[in-house]
Amino acid sequence: MKPAFVAFDVAGTTMQDDGVVIEAFEQAFSKAFPVAWQEHGQEWLDYVVETMGQSKIEVFTHLLGSRAEAIKANEAFEQAYSNEVATNGAQSIEGIELVFKQLHADSIPVVLTTGFSRKTLDQIIEALGWWDLIDLSVTPGEAGLGRPHPDMLNLAAQKLGVADHSSVVVLGDTQSDIKAGLAFGADRVYGVLTGCHTAEQLESSGATSILYSAADLFSLIGN
Ligand SMILES: [Mg+2]
Repeated sequence: MKPAFVAFDVAGTTMQDDGVVIEAFEQAFSKAFPVAWQEHGQEWLDYVVETMGQSKIEVFTHLLGSRAEAIKANEAFEQAYSNEVATNGAQSIEGIELVFKQLHADSIPVVLTTGFSRKTLDQIIEALGWWDLIDLSVTPGEAGLGRPHPDMLNLAAQKLGVADHSSVVVLGDTQSDIKAGLAFGADRVYGVLTGCHTAEQLESSGATSILYSAADLFSLIGN
């Protein structure tokens, strides 16, 4: 069935990550909370990896126990990540632009969802030169709850006027992406192996198929 739209995650799915997100977390913790970071470092990083794909501000709130502290940490995270993109740029997953173009040619909207804030996401889209390649992008702050909740996908469906969620295709590199896609009601929720979690982890979350890369999408949906 032709997808009503295809929703891609960003870091680890359409944009290479290579540990930059983890590094930005480390910088944020060590700068904003140097003492607690010394004590809880490994425990915090384990949680960050486990919850990768979720809203960053929610992850910080869970770890630090207060919204005010989380906002402070998130600002440090965004600064660190922004510096990284400004210094080293951002790299897309090889071949993903061709997939975006093919979807456009087939009149299938391209949607990005993320755990980043709008400011960070816009910086990434700008760095990758993707403004003309995507139809819509949604951040947790705009939608309500981040992943594993389906709010970002629900908002995208609403904005695109899509009532039948089953035909939407969702792709992501984390268990949270998969859970969000299933909660949204998509029949095709694909895990990719270019990011954070393993095929076993993605399958255990209910991924309907595993692809090596989002660039291989057409091997599953046809063209
Ligand atoms: Mg990701």
